[in-house]
Amino acid sequence: MQVLIIRVDEIGLKNKNKMFFMHKLKDNIQSKISQNFIFKVNNNRIYLIPQQNMGITVKDIDILKKIFGIHSFSIAEKTESNIDSIKTQVYKVAKKSLENNNYKTFKISVNRANKSFPYNSQEFAGIIGEFILNNFPQLKVDLNHPELNIEIDIRKEGTFIFNNRLEGPSGLPVGTSSKGTVLLSGGIDSPIATLLMMRRGMLLNAVNFYSPPFTGPKSLNKILKIGSIVSEFTSFPFYLYVVPLTKIQLLFRDIKEDKYSVILQRRAMMRITNKISDITNTKVLVSGESLGQVASQTIENLLTISDSSQKVVLRPLIGFTKNETIKLSKKFGLYETSILPYEDSCSVFLPSKPATKSNINHIKSIEDSLPHLSELEKEVLDEAKKYKIEDSKVSEIDHFES
Ligand code: ATP
Ligand code: MG
Repeated sequence: MQVLIIRVDEIGLKNKNKMFFMHKLKDNIQSKISQNFIFKVNNNRIYLIPQQNMGITVKDIDILKKIFGIHSFSIAEKTESNIDSIKTQVYKVAKKSLENNNYKTFKISVNRANKSFPYNSQEFAGIIGEFILNNFPQLKVDLNHPELNIEIDIRKEGTFIFNNRLEGPSGLPVGTSSKGTVLLSGGIDSPIATLLMMRRGMLLNAVNFYSPPFTGPKSLNKILKIGSIVSEFTSFPFYLYVVPLTKIQLLFRDIKEDKYSVILQRRAMMRITNKISDITNTKVLVSGESLGQVASQTIENLLTISDSSQKVVLRPLIGFTKNETIKLSKKFGLYETSILPYEDSCSVFLPSKPATKSNINHIKSIEDSLPHLSELEKEVLDEAKKYKIEDSKVSEIDHFES
């Protein structure tokens, strides 16, 4: 019988509340995966047993690769823990992989978690190794770099035989670490900041600012595409709110000290995002800033930006190099979309010499001199477009979802 074995890493280190995390992970897998599997949570593992004659599909595999909390998983043959049925299944696994690959070397790895099994792991690896040599004369033993590694995992609940370990994204299940609102641009950084917080178990919604008519429909499509990719990593709907910032940006463009316009925009974004966070009941904000990357990301400017937020702003990329972020962006399948050349809201009104330092009181006095600022910030909230994205399907909705 074929089963999927799901393994965890960090969750396994937890003591008293391990089962809470294991069951959350199970729920997240269950709501994401389409098929009818029977789920069994067993200490550090989850088994997925396909019902009746439904097999395990490529789509199932793709889904599991994107569920946070999963360290690795294997498609295994499960059998009783006796030598004859183990041999039968090992033969089957070896034969199948030799049909598809021209392997010359192999290794048998035995893990005997069930100590009542009559052979120790080394003895048993020897027995099965010989069995393979007798049945597949084209194979030779190579303990260091085998092309075919057949693992035999002997447990109380049965014996599992497999020759594959697929990588999961690790971390904690989404929904185990409270809620946050991410400021999501179409760039490289903030989508990665989003996934890194999701990987720590946080449930996120997102706010994007755009500048119609200066940014066109392609920019909107781009952010929806980013949202779609992100949505594949969570078992919950991903809500994305798109707020037109143009009126406010025009206000800042016309001030005398335009070198502060980016800082002023960021502070306005923070205040508006705080409001959305209040309405949708999230506890913290998340942004993709990284120390020193651009003028607005010096410590002085980050402090001036944070000052406008009542809620704590988490910046998971603060110590990342750009290359590290790009690497993750490629790994998570976002890069190709993030580098599409459509204008971002901020780049439309970039001053020629943005200030690398700012004084909070001075910035506040500029804001105070703009009488309509807080009115406009309320107004644009009403003009926000609201989207619900589930398994990369986008639908427009008419309210903020809490
Ligand atoms: P990113 O790659 O995420 O766009 P960046 O390197 O371009 O980041 P900035 O443009 O300085 O850096 O933006 C810093 C952070 O501010 C972003 O990571 C994001 O969290 C937020 N932000 C910037 N522009 C927008 C926007 N148009 N909508 C929502 N959030 C934004
Ligand atoms: Mg950007």
